[in-house]
Amino acid sequence: MNVLVINCGSSSLKYQLIDSESEKVLAKGLCERIGIDGRLTYQKAGLDKEITEAPMPTHKEAIKMVLDALTNDKTGAIKSLDEVGAVGHRMVHGGEKFTCSAVIDDEMIKAVESCNDLAPLHNPANLIGVNACKELMPNVPMVGVFDTAFHQTMPKKAYLYGLPYEYYEKYGVRRYGFHGTSHSFVSKETAKFLGLDLENSKIIVAHLGNGASISAVKNGKCVDTSMGLTPLAGLVMGTRCGDIDPAIMEYIAKKEDLDIAGVMNVLNKKSGVQGISGVSSDFRDLEDGMTAGNERCADAIEVFCYNVAKFIGAYAAAMNGVDAIAFTAGIGENGPIVREKVLEYLGYLGAELDPEANQKRGDNNVISTPDSKVKVCVVPTNEELAICRDTVALVK
Ligand code: AMP
Repeated sequence: MNVLVINCGSSSLKYQLIDSESEKVLAKGLCERIGIDGRLTYQKAGLDKEITEAPMPTHKEAIKMVLDALTNDKTGAIKSLDEVGAVGHRMVHGGEKFTCSAVIDDEMIKAVESCNDLAPLHNPANLIGVNACKELMPNVPMVGVFDTAFHQTMPKKAYLYGLPYEYYEKYGVRRYGFHGTSHSFVSKETAKFLGLDLENSKIIVAHLGNGASISAVKNGKCVDTSMGLTPLAGLVMGTRCGDIDPAIMEYIAKKEDLDIAGVMNVLNKKSGVQGISGVSSDFRDLEDGMTAGNERCADAIEVFCYNVAKFIGAYAAAMNGVDAIAFTAGIGENGPIVREKVLEYLGYLGAELDPEANQKRGDNNVISTPDSKVKVCVVPTNEELAICRDTVALVK
């Protein structure tokens, strides 16, 4: 079956058409600047990217352009839309309502809408994509795959904040966690790749991208994760601050004469390694800066790596041990310097880095020595494939 995987943002949309049997990507691309002007990037497997500028007032026009490109006579990956067996949508926030992926119907859409307050920028955008697909392909089954679902197995002690309990009861204020599709995919791949029994394993997944989070996965189930009610919590990230003293918000608001929205803008967009370095949120730029002697770039990298190492230590404690640590996402997969610096803190766990293996790129890769008590590896994430697999499992 061919599955169209859609990841809808407020003004952009990423897509992949995947053959679920071979798990090969038949075509992929993105729509950008939806509601502004509109730009479609389309790439059929084995061919060059095609870029088309065309008006996309809403997500409906964007998806229509994607479907036209997929079925185009010359470079289309399929002959007609009849060859799309299902659509899998990435959904950001499922609150406590969704503990796993779900077939999309009217009731399910209502349940997602009831979580909109928890992700006011993302959930409505996801639903616009769902409704656009429903209009354009009314008979194709659709599945929603949630960023939060994998973390719903966390025990109460991991998800409750030290706040009045009624805020949890009335408003759902608790830790939810994000990147769940990636943490789920990578923990499973790690167990498979290392020959561990997933049901009897302790794995820490470090998803280190522009957004970054860590999770503790015990016996295949998430028991803790670093993001919280929102993706602002946990690690210092590209532009997000991660965990800070909450009183800083009032302090900065007074000093800089900012309202809540102004402070949140700083914490989301001007903080993290971008804020510390004043140079970039991209680790390639930070590493170049550090090599050139820029002290703040070096500081940003050190803070990031120290943070990652502290969370790994905390999660080893939470699980009373760890069998494997998996690095994934942009920095986790491509950043040997970061991995090396993180591993320098973890000798006490018995994790020993193989510097040569750490330089290799590409597929799943063990980067610890054969004697290392904890296996450390790089396992590329593939959220689109994870969405495709869940979609097929639910519509078959
Ligand atoms: P992601 O959000 O998973 O797409 O990750 C994007 C981030 O990965 C970028 O902002 C960079 O910080 C990082 N990254 C990508 N390539 C490299 C690389 N070769 N070396 C270090 N960091 C990288």
